[in-house]
Amino acid sequence: MFVGTVKEIKNHEYRVGLTPESAHELVAHGHTVLVETGAGAGIGAADEAYVAAGAQIVGTAAEVFARADMVVKVKEPQAVERAMLREGQILYTYLHLAPDPEQTADLVKSGAVCIAYETVTDATGGLPLLKPMSQVAGRMAIQAGATALEKAHGGRGVLLGGVPGVLPAKVAVIGGGVVGFNAAQMAAGLGADVTIIDRSPEVLERLATHFESRAKTLYAGKANIAAAVAEADLVIGAVLVPGAAAPKLVTREMLSTMKPGAVLVDVAIDQGGCFETSHATTHAEPTYVVDGVVHYCVANMPGGVARTSTYALNNVTLPHALAIANLGWKAALARNVHLANGLNVAFGKVTYEAVANDLGYAY
Ligand code: NAD
Repeated sequence: MFVGTVKEIKNHEYRVGLTPESAHELVAHGHTVLVETGAGAGIGAADEAYVAAGAQIVGTAAEVFARADMVVKVKEPQAVERAMLREGQILYTYLHLAPDPEQTADLVKSGAVCIAYETVTDATGGLPLLKPMSQVAGRMAIQAGATALEKAHGGRGVLLGGVPGVLPAKVAVIGGGVVGFNAAQMAAGLGADVTIIDRSPEVLERLATHFESRAKTLYAGKANIAAAVAEADLVIGAVLVPGAAAPKLVTREMLSTMKPGAVLVDVAIDQGGCFETSHATTHAEPTYVVDGVVHYCVANMPGGVARTSTYALNNVTLPHALAIANLGWKAALARNVHLANGLNVAFGKVTYEAVANDLGYAY
């Protein structure tokens, strides 16, 4: 199969669909890999690295789209990219169609076979192609919070781990799923005084067993959240109610109980945020201050560490890309119900029930 990847054109997107190592793997399985020149520049992968992996460098995205049987990307195709898709061509990338009627209409019109990373499932009912980005964001939340706690960044001048003779910072992590677990691991690793708050008894039990004395767990009652937030130097917002806007667990009123210069990192901002005072920010200007409390609310945190994120993403996307290339999309999806769950649009039809329902397509 001819498998192609292009330079991402969405604003400030530096990740790439295929690393040189992934290209090498596809080539080793007998496929031809086409890479738009400069596609890997954002992660430090030069054209030469792809050539060494056996890929062909081509001059334009248009050429990749024209020649590839499957295009592997990171972000949803932008309008100019959608216009280059053709009937039966496979598009394998994040799509997030439900809130995007324009993109959905273009993909339907194209006749392409569109497999969305975010709806591929695994045997535990999880979303394995989303998980690595939550791992990245959770880990990064502590780095971002630690930086924001420095005086020069508006924080109260507290070192997360303290030093011998000085107590460590208090970190409250609200939501103990993938983001929260990874944030807690980093914070505990730095020696901070960590409390993880969740409403699920099973999640609390799992976390308590894992962390033992390195982190405390707390049920997510209103009073518990208010008390933990008032004491905290750093609060990480990491809740998710699938398919819904994030609940506003920290109100504006609560900010007045917090220490001046304390920091809120709202990782759940991509679902609207779990702090009442959150609004989305960018890597260029990640923080702002409300009532003396520093807010960090970057909606695409993994983009800030594009190289790590690309490799983490390729680890989980490549096995499916290989299966599709080796078997063809029909056989690959027939053999793997979890990959089949990724199919969102094919040959002019919306094939994913929730997207069809949300956007009024026949299913
Ligand atoms: P997850 O499903 O693994 O975990 C969510 C946790 O929230 C669960 O343990 C659940 O029990 C808990 N929860 C739900 N409602 C709660 C409530 N009212 N009180 C306390 N706990 C509650 O989800 P995740 O993968 O950890 O993702 C968390 C959020 O981070 C999502 O909104 C996700 O989209 C977002 N995210 C953002 C970025 C970014 O760049 N900003 C990157 C990755 C993920």
